[in-house]
Formats: sequence, structure tokens, C-alpha cells
Amino acid sequence: MPELDPFFFKINSWSFTKHRVWNRCQRQYYFEYIAPYVKSTPVVDPEKIRWLKNFTSKFVVQGQLIHDIIDQQIQLHCENKPMDLAEAINEFTKKVLRYKNIGGETFTEYHNGEKIPGSFYTFIDENGKTCLHTFFGKWPDYMSRECLRHEEYDHFNIGDTGVTVKVDFVGRMPDGTLVLTDWKTGRDDDEYETELQMAAYVLWAMEYYKKSADEIGTELVFLKTGKTKPYAFFEEQLREVQEQIPREFAMMNASYEYGDFPARPSQRECMSCKFAEVCSERKM
Ligand code: SF4
Repeated sequence: MPELDPFFFKINSWSFTKHRVWNRCQRQYYFEYIAPYVKSTPVVDPEKIRWLKNFTSKFVVQGQLIHDIIDQQIQLHCENKPMDLAEAINEFTKKVLRYKNIGGETFTEYHNGEKIPGSFYTFIDENGKTCLHTFFGKWPDYMSRECLRHEEYDHFNIGDTGVTVKVDFVGRMPDGTLVLTDWKTGRDDDEYETELQMAAYVLWAMEYYKKSADEIGTELVFLKTGKTKPYAFFEEQLREVQEQIPREFAMMNASYEYGDFPARPSQRECMSCKFAEVCSERKM
């Protein structure tokens, strides 16, 4: 086993994001979560890996910009200040323009050699405005919910496995029940394994707020279409997730050897992969 920086073991936990990377390409998982901490004979210079981690896929940026603006607006609401659609749109457009002005050079795809056409910025600008309009259109339904927290990281344990979560919005209904909301900025059929994500949120909220599963609801809100999809979990389903997460985390940590993390190249994934430059198996 290679020697890893002790800091790795302090921050090493399961998260839904890690789960997705792990199931997408384990080599990418290695580069993202292990390679920066390898101290003895690293396959790739950890400094180089840390530098590559500064790039972000254009698809991630697109969703992140909308989340940031929504989060700022929710913060205003939590401080009893008025939300402002015009200001939200203005701020969003400015952010998109900033990326456009530098030609998208912080996008992973740009770093990997893809030209980012002007139409991409037009698309994310229009899509973002649609999402913001939908958010503001739906917000009156949320006014009766007490704002408990939004976009904050938290940790909890399932047995010995640390789990990291970040819920977009936690609201308390007038009857005391909680609703955990996740804003989705993509297509409304883009629900890849979302149940696992939402179940992890419920397990966290049960512990954090000392509530039972039937006092916690979850929902996905698709900002592109306005569709809301609620999820409720039975104890049995939650028990399965309580077994699934430690099992997967054990697999993720069975070895830290580079060769034990097989690559799964595909043109689409490799073009959006931060580590394509140092991956000998990239397909582009
Ligand atoms: S470039 Fe492709 S194969 Fe290599 S780590 Fe990234 S996604 Fe996996």
C-alpha cells in the first residue's frame, strides 16, 4: 500500500458525489480522491493533480451557478430580507459573461481541447433564467416553511462509515415535519440513483433533528420544468441504504494502489474528466 498523508484519513468519508464518480470510472476516483494524498512514489505528481482539480466541467459550472444564485436568495429570505428576481437574473448573467469573456478557459473540456462555442453561453444563460423564473414562481409555496438550513455540508456516521451530505434546502412545515429539497437544474428525467442521495439525506436528518423517518419528507424540484417529485422512505428501504453505503465505502478503501482502480474510458466522460491529461487510458 502506498503511504498516504494522514489528512486523507481525517476527511475520508462516503458521499453521493463520490458514489457517482466511483461508478463512472474508478481511475477517475483514484485521481480525484486518493492521488492528491499519495506520499510515497506517486504515479502522478500530487501537485499536478491538485492543479488539475481547479478545472470544472462546463456542465457542473452550469448547475453550480444557478445553485449559488438561489442560495443567495434563500439567504436573503432567512434574514427576513426581500428576494429579488431581477437582481438574481442580473447577477446570473454577469457570472455567465465572466466565463464567456475568458473563453471558458477554466472549463475541463476547454483544457482537454474542446472549443466552447458562443452558443453554449447563450444556452446556459437562457436555461439559467428559466430555472430562476421557476424558482421564484414556486417560492410562495415555501414561505410557510421555516428555513432551517441551506447548502451546508454536514457529516454523520453509519456504523464506522463517515458520510458527508449537503442538502439544498431544509424547511420545517407548520405541522413540525421536515422537507428536504434538492433543486435540479437538468432534465426532469435526470434522476440517476437519486433515491440513494435522498435516502442518505433522510438518514442524516433523522439523526441531526432527532426525527423519525415518517416525520421527514424529501422532494426533487426540477427548475427547468417546474415539476416536483416527492420521495418517502420506508424503514426497510433506509435499512438497505444503511447497509449499501458502508459496503461501498469498504470497496472504495480496499486498496490505495493505482492499479486497483480500473479505467472505464468513454469519449463523453473523458472529455469532461479533469484528469484526462494524465490518464493514459483516456479516449478522446
Ligand atoms: S480520462 Fe477517462 S478513463 Fe481516464 S480517468 Fe478520466 S474518465 Fe477515466
